[in-house]
Amino acid sequence: MVEVNIYDNTVVRSERMFNTSREQLVNRLVKDSYIKSDIVKKAFLTIPRENFVPEYLKLQAYVDRPLEIGKGQTISAPHMVAIMCEALDIQKGQKILEIGTGSGYHAAIVSQLAGEKGHIYTIERFEDLAKTAEQNLKNTDITNVTVVVGDGSEGLKKYEPYDRIYVTCAAPSVPNPLIDQLKDHGKLLTPVGSMYCELQLTEKKGQEIQSKDLGGCVFVPLVGKYGH
Ligand code: SAM
Repeated sequence: MVEVNIYDNTVVRSERMFNTSREQLVNRLVKDSYIKSDIVKKAFLTIPRENFVPEYLKLQAYVDRPLEIGKGQTISAPHMVAIMCEALDIQKGQKILEIGTGSGYHAAIVSQLAGEKGHIYTIERFEDLAKTAEQNLKNTDITNVTVVVGDGSEGLKKYEPYDRIYVTCAAPSVPNPLIDQLKDHGKLLTPVGSMYCELQLTEKKGQEIQSKDLGGCVFVPLVGKYGH
């Protein structure tokens, strides 16, 4: 536990305070039906969001909104991470691809859902953000996430096919390479639009591709070959 002398006007950072705030946030996400399953609830209670935000924003770590992480990018709001985790129905042992690592928080939550036999590959276009995310994940003792630098709009062919793929930025349409890199019976989640978008769930069943809209959301744009 870190106790800081408030008389020195330094940041008050107490593990107990963060734990209480995390529990309060999770209770609210459950009450508002963003978190529906015990496994997602447990993941949110386990992962400390304060480890994934810049030092000057740590006291806001449990406010349910996006926060700046540098390079004009954000860590997504917890309710959005919860919606996406529930929609993807992640199973233990699955291989998962995330487009848009950002802070690494969403990948850390997903790493709990996939379990130690599962693996998350996450791709980020900004090298600085990727390095910070890698450090954040290390500081949180997460060992089943691999961070890659590159254009995630093209997916990540090296480790295909994936059981689940999710995009954490707004794409003009569902990128074809992501559908190609999905396993049969796999699920792909993409915010489609420009900033204001629809969260689109795509399922691959043999030759058939089924899509449905899960509702409106706001994301920073996907940039790159299949981006804006
Ligand atoms: N999942 C993140 C988290 O938990 O902090 C939040 C992601 S943030 C909303 C979206 C991220 O997508 C940004 O870090 C941005 O740089 C990244 N991004 C945008 N276009 C990309 C691309 N073509 N390839 C990889 N990353 C991209």
